[in-house]
Amino acid sequence: MNNLREAHESVSYNDIFEGSADALILLDKERFFDCNPAALKLFGYRSVEELNTKHPSEVSPSLQPNGESSLELANKKIEEAYKKGVNLFEWVHKRKNGEEFPASVLLVPFKLGNRRVLQATVRDISKEKKAIVSLKESEYFFRESQKAANIGSYKFDFKTSTWVGSSVMDKIFGIKADYNKTIENWLKIVHPDDREIMRHYFVDEVIAKRINFNKEYRILRINDGELRWLLGLGKVLFSTNGEPISMVGTIMDITERKLAQLKAMELMNRNEAIIQSIGDAVIACDKTGKVNVFNKVAELMTGISAKEAIGKHYSEVVNCTREDDGEKCNDFIAEAILHKKITEMSNHVLLVRKDGVKVPVSDSAAPITDHEGNILGCVVIFHDMSRERKIDKAKTEFVSLASHQLRTPLSTINWYLEILINEEIGELNPKQQTYAKEIYGASQRMVLLINSLLNVSRLELGTFGIEPKRVSIVSVAKKCIKELKPLTMLKDIKIIEKYQDESMIVKIDPKLVTIIMENLLTNSIKYSHKAGQVRLSIKLINKDLIIQVSDHGIGIPISQQKEIFGKMFRADNAKTMDPDGSGLGLYIVKQVLSYVDGSINFESKENVETKFVVIIPLQKNISKKHNNRLL
Ligand code: ADP
Repeated sequence: MNNLREAHESVSYNDIFEGSADALILLDKERFFDCNPAALKLFGYRSVEELNTKHPSEVSPSLQPNGESSLELANKKIEEAYKKGVNLFEWVHKRKNGEEFPASVLLVPFKLGNRRVLQATVRDISKEKKAIVSLKESEYFFRESQKAANIGSYKFDFKTSTWVGSSVMDKIFGIKADYNKTIENWLKIVHPDDREIMRHYFVDEVIAKRINFNKEYRILRINDGELRWLLGLGKVLFSTNGEPISMVGTIMDITERKLAQLKAMELMNRNEAIIQSIGDAVIACDKTGKVNVFNKVAELMTGISAKEAIGKHYSEVVNCTREDDGEKCNDFIAEAILHKKITEMSNHVLLVRKDGVKVPVSDSAAPITDHEGNILGCVVIFHDMSRERKIDKAKTEFVSLASHQLRTPLSTINWYLEILINEEIGELNPKQQTYAKEIYGASQRMVLLINSLLNVSRLELGTFGIEPKRVSIVSVAKKCIKELKPLTMLKDIKIIEKYQDESMIVKIDPKLVTIIMENLLTNSIKYSHKAGQVRLSIKLINKDLIIQVSDHGIGIPISQQKEIFGKMFRADNAKTMDPDGSGLGLYIVKQVLSYVDGSINFESKENVETKFVVIIPLQKNISKKHNNRLL
């Protein structure tokens, strides 16, 4: 210290030396001869004496990172400092405890008396070194991850109107590194159709409104002219006086994603267009019942706009009632969702419009499921049946009128035929008799057919009224049998009658029982073999009228038994035996029975026995109001 003070009489230098945060060491030639407390702390020595007389290589590892020995290199650096006047370099030092650390060393020579000495300022730079390493690392990761994600980065300079970009960016644009990167040349890469949009966006939005650049746009890649979709992101930096200085950002090639997205959108639009143009009402809802699709016809049929309907529960939008009893019947939608199966309204259904008008519809609800079968919702389709109904009604009215008109000439034909066959106006030879009977049989079948058609049209037009009155049921039965005489005669069939009580009087519409008995007996006669027997039994049990008709004819094949009440259904064996049947008889019987809550059942074994049993509850035998189905 004395030496130092000799050299620097000024107290202020001493203060600086002692108080400096940098380690300061004085060297005479190549040996230390003084140091400040910061130097002691840095190297881990307790006193100046401990460090004095040491050569710099003694506070260094034997070799420096470049492989040279610390001793020789230190001497070289000292010599350079004396020669150049100042020498700044990096050095690896070693503390007293052996720990090495990177340091920056500044050697400044000065005169002390007549000696030339050096002041070394040593600064531990391990933190800076670490920071540089980690900065390099993060730069590396940033670059690599951008490469991996195919993200290009750029910096645009507003002053020069040029940009610099990463190699990934060049690749995305399909340009070479030396491409003239001006704003105009960027616009040249942009797809011609998007150029104006992008210029406008950049100038009037990003710069004028100071928003971040965030836009998907198309380019025509320079190297191959291919159309690519890019996502450009960027942030403009403005000077304090509001001038844009630069913009930094990234671009990403999103072509694959964009094309998939466009395809999905196209598909969606197409599906939407299809749904909108379907001629039926299409309503879809999610699994909670919330409406999410509502097409134009649905708007017309419900009187509710799609805007109003979407988001609401279907029960607030769809109001269905049953045609026969006016009961609400929206359950089929819930059922489709619950049971994951297509449901159709079996009964005739009316869709009640917002203004109260009832539209006859046929409808079905189908569940919407994902590929794993999980329920997502339901789609309901309503078809407006008004037109079909009108056509049906017109058709039925025509059939009704035609059958009615046909009855008169047929009665005349039958009447004259009976006169002929009964030989009231002269004898017929056997051939003539046979022919006349054939004609009579055919015209009888015609009568039956016309009666059936009339009954069906009455039932469908709703003009089939029930008027119960007290009648002798046996008389009604006998009248029927009499009417069927021509048929029984032709086939030589015997009808065996069995009545619980010949004098039974019941309150019933005779027209109704006539239709039932006539049809059942006709069938038994038709499907019996020649000279067969048909049984008719009538009894009253607990206020139920029970009519049974049985025969030993061809019977009904088991496989077709469940269909025989269907309109115009005929079993195969029946078609072969009697090609002229209409398949309307049993349908009519079933329909008229529904007017009086009656029922019909049968048992049949092919070629053994067929037995039909009709039960009519007499107490309830009041005229039921049947809705006119065709109106
Ligand atoms: P149709 O007799 O004009 O064919 P129906 O409606 O009266 O029409 O009968 C429907 C079908 O039921 C018949 O075609 C026949 O197959 C079957 N069927 C009805 N009654 C009998 C019966 N007694 N014996 C055998 N088959 C019968």
